[in-house]
Amino acid sequence: MKKRIVIALGGNALGDNLEEQMTAAKITAGAIVDLVEAGHEIAIVHGNGPQVGMILTAFETAAKANSKFPVLPISVCVALSQGYIGYDLQNTIRMELDKRGMKQQVAAIISQVEVDPNDKAFQNPTKPIGGFMSKEEADALKAQGVSVMEDAGRGWRQVVASPKPQHIVEAGIIKGMLAAGQIPIAAGGGGIPVAMKDGQYHGMPAVIDKDFSAAKLAQLIEADMLIILTAVEKVAINFNKPDQQWLDTLTLAEAEKLIAENHFAKGSMLPKMEAAMAFVKSSSAKAGREPPSALITLLTKARDGVAGKTGTKIVANL
Ligand code: ADP
Ligand code: MG
Repeated sequence: MKKRIVIALGGNALGDNLEEQMTAAKITAGAIVDLVEAGHEIAIVHGNGPQVGMILTAFETAAKANSKFPVLPISVCVALSQGYIGYDLQNTIRMELDKRGMKQQVAAIISQVEVDPNDKAFQNPTKPIGGFMSKEEADALKAQGVSVMEDAGRGWRQVVASPKPQHIVEAGIIKGMLAAGQIPIAAGGGGIPVAMKDGQYHGMPAVIDKDFSAAKLAQLIEADMLIILTAVEKVAINFNKPDQQWLDTLTLAEAEKLIAENHFAKGSMLPKMEAAMAFVKSSSAKAGREPPSALITLLTKARDGVAGKTGTKIVANL
């Protein structure tokens, strides 16, 4: 059955430099065009954790060396990351479509996402950005007033505020593209965080979790499925422990219980589970369609996942 699907691509899956990103984007394009070829309507949301950290650091370093260079607000760094990741993705997807003789059009939309300026996330930074550091490097940054956090056993990273997305400013345009059979790349890096003040959008110092923005987009465009593609094929309980167990299908109630038991790491799997649940909760079943569901799996398993063969699926009820 033809589905409308929002795909959330992990920022870490896009590599750490331009070359790695290009290679990763090609693999990604293959997986996405497989789904388009199968007849599904696809909107793509990508992460930007490593990339936005790199952009921020580059401008900070430049500003230290030469006062003519500005220290860019994080919102502008997110906008830059949307541009350069979107540029690679739209070109690799277009090439893949061409190769298969498909006529669909693809484009990245510079997307703004409204956040609540009173969101308590602004007082409590939790979103890892930039590269991984040793404990010593992290301690040195901390001494300079930068927030740092250990990221799921993989090393230390800088963290920034990550408020929840309230609305996607360009949602109507994205929906229009899908209706026209086009492939939008939208809300990249979680979207440029903005808040309305005096009738105008202003950038906010945050990086919105792309998994939550993808869930919000899936809700707004009435998607059948939210697929979160990341570095693991399935979600596990007792992750990385001897009694680790991979999960297949979870109801909202079961997922809720596992969250309460602390099975999912903050800043990595927890936001994915919460985003998956938020989409399933916020969407209602439509006549003649499968009930809305969310799937967490590996990029290379997207097609098998949609076919129900792998991944961890979250549904309202069994
Ligand atoms: P992305 O870049 O795709 O957003 P993240 O690194 O933020 O990826 O999150 C995915 C990572 O979450 C996995 O690679 C894994 O190391 C980690 N993780 C934490 N808890 C779990 C869990 N319970 N099950 C599976 N993976 C988990
Ligand atoms: Mg992540």
